[in-house]
Amino acid sequence: MYSFFESVERSFNKAAEYTKWDKGLLEQIKACNSIYTMRFPVKMDDGRIEVIEAYRVQHSQHKTPCKGGIRFSGEVNQDEVMALASLMTYKCAIVNVPFGGAKGGIKINPRNHSTYELEKITRRYTAELVKKNFIGPGIDVPAPDYGTGEREMAWIVDTYASLKPGEIDAAGCVTGKPISQGGVHGRKEATGLGVFFGVREVCKNANTMKKLGLTTGIEGKRIIVQGLGNVGYHCAKFFRENGAIVIAIAEYEGAVYNENGINEEELFQHRKTTGSGNNFKDSTFIPKSSDALELDCDILIPAALENVIDGNNAPRIKAKIVAEAANGPLTPEADEVFVNRGILVIPDMYLNAGGVTVSYFEWLKNLSHVRYGRLEKRFTESMNHHILTELELLTGKEASAKARKLIEHGADEIDLVHSGLEETMISATQEIMEIMQENPTIPDMRTAAYICAINKVALSYTELGIFP
Ligand code: NAD
Repeated sequence: MYSFFESVERSFNKAAEYTKWDKGLLEQIKACNSIYTMRFPVKMDDGRIEVIEAYRVQHSQHKTPCKGGIRFSGEVNQDEVMALASLMTYKCAIVNVPFGGAKGGIKINPRNHSTYELEKITRRYTAELVKKNFIGPGIDVPAPDYGTGEREMAWIVDTYASLKPGEIDAAGCVTGKPISQGGVHGRKEATGLGVFFGVREVCKNANTMKKLGLTTGIEGKRIIVQGLGNVGYHCAKFFRENGAIVIAIAEYEGAVYNENGINEEELFQHRKTTGSGNNFKDSTFIPKSSDALELDCDILIPAALENVIDGNNAPRIKAKIVAEAANGPLTPEADEVFVNRGILVIPDMYLNAGGVTVSYFEWLKNLSHVRYGRLEKRFTESMNHHILTELELLTGKEASAKARKLIEHGADEIDLVHSGLEETMISATQEIMEIMQENPTIPDMRTAAYICAINKVALSYTELGIFP
């Protein structure tokens, strides 16, 4: 049994054998550069003082700032944060986002704390990061992860800005913020939408699909999603909206199954009102949540936590494609089982890179202090209007109202963000698939993704002149 960080190292070493880089350089790329472990006291609502355990790991500064989410979970530990920080470095490299990898974690179960307690913990954590120079728009920029969202990011930016008065780029100290606090449209759904774009691109490849015994395209594919949080919810939404059938959604209290498809928003509302997925309309409730992963389906999307598929349950998984929306949902043993069984694993380190890609767009927006589309939207619309009117005069034909609306439309922030994300995920998928095609001895997509990442990080070190 490997620790999470050891699993990442193992995958790295496997891929490194396909590269020609100096051993020392490979060791440098693999190592976590800075690890900050914290203990700080917070007074809880009942007057009790609790000592909070927290971490921030900066895996690599080959590009700055460092970037990576902050996780709130009772399972947080140093090994996990190190593994997640490493994955961030490789992920950013693959999608050409110019950041080094980092990750943060606070060892708390958010369900056991009031909103006020969570705010105090988050603000104190931020203050600790400021004290040690571990946060800042040019140093290290956190984001949401498991157990955190827009609300926590708003507390972080507010704390940072109040401790750094006059810092004009303060909004860029964290991403995933609410729009009113400097966030960007499209960040909330970015990871789930990126997973959709990545899987759709793989499913377009006729050869790959033929080998898996599947038809090309997303339409009609039967999907199982684990986790109805930010990532899982949006994965379910975009697959359903594009013609797939989400037959099961697993949450921690059990799974909901319906062969005719589940609407994620209705299930979300049902769980919000009743506290559970039990008794959801027209569906079967499976009390042992992990059993749902083993149901027959085309694509399984783990979007909750790491190590949920291991050597034990991997032989029972019936999906043809496992799309890793979560970070590290498969152990190395599960990976081996899937390679041997011909199941395609689309790896986390690029498939869930939509979040960091749009975080990059948010950071750029914060540094430029202007909303995307603000300068050109109206200009584009009036130019398109003139061109269309001229064409109508020349041809003597009139465009339909629908076509006119579509052609004249100038891009809003959301249009630009979604299109930038789509382009990023398609290019990354193609790059990784090309690496596999060039060398048929590469056993799986994860190894190809690591090769892609290692080559890019190594190149940036050599171009810095640090390694010849
Ligand atoms: P989240 O907290 O919004 O959602 C996680 C969901 O998983 C929760 O609803 C939780 O109840 C559920 N869950 C917990 N244990 C479960 C179990 N045993 N079975 C089924 N469901 C369970 O977190 P998130 O932001 O959606 O992150 C999910 C995963 O995606 C994590 O691995 C995270 O690192 C990764 N990720 C997130 C982002 C992002 O932008 N939020 C980006 C990249 C990767």
